[in-house]
Amino acid sequence: MERGMIAELKNRIRDIPDFPKKGILFKDITTLLSDAKSFRQAIDILSHRYIGRHIDLVVGIEARGFIIGAALAYALNAGVILIRKPGKLPYITHKTAYELEYGTNEIEIHKDAIKPGQKILIADDLLATGGTVHAATRLVKELKGEIEELAFLVELSFLKGREKLKDYGVYSLIQF
Ligand code: AMP
Repeated sequence: MERGMIAELKNRIRDIPDFPKKGILFKDITTLLSDAKSFRQAIDILSHRYIGRHIDLVVGIEARGFIIGAALAYALNAGVILIRKPGKLPYITHKTAYELEYGTNEIEIHKDAIKPGQKILIADDLLATGGTVHAATRLVKELKGEIEELAFLVELSFLKGREKLKDYGVYSLIQF
């Protein structure tokens, strides 16, 4: 029953070839999010996995991770906190850099976003190479959060992002 639902959700994702640059097949989730039933189903399935696991905070990674993270936090009666690109968060931050195909990127978190020992679920729309979420785990660990799991709507399994994330549980709803 859930398999059929997940196949339907998968069909809602639109492929955009050569975006944002040549050779990348972009998985566009806006067509899933804009369908009320699909959005609810996706969040319901994800959140049911974590009910009873006492999640204190869901971390959303800018920008599509905010959508998934906020909806999950609401469903789990948890708080939501933000990991953002540099210069966007107004208070004092911790920052970390990570490798991209060309060059590096940075993300940051408010230094007081997590109290030591709080149980954290990290959420993003899509797991590709795992570089972004690995950087997010470093920020959460620096603030002494306890990472319960990493949750994604979509995983591009062929990019083997999980191999970078062996220290954590990784869950994705839809795989390509
Ligand atoms: P990565 O650090 O390689 O795991 O990339 C993760 C981030 O890049 C995710 O937050 C996605 O939003 C975005 N991303 C990477 N590759 C794709 C893709 N093929 N389609 C859509 N989004 C992607």
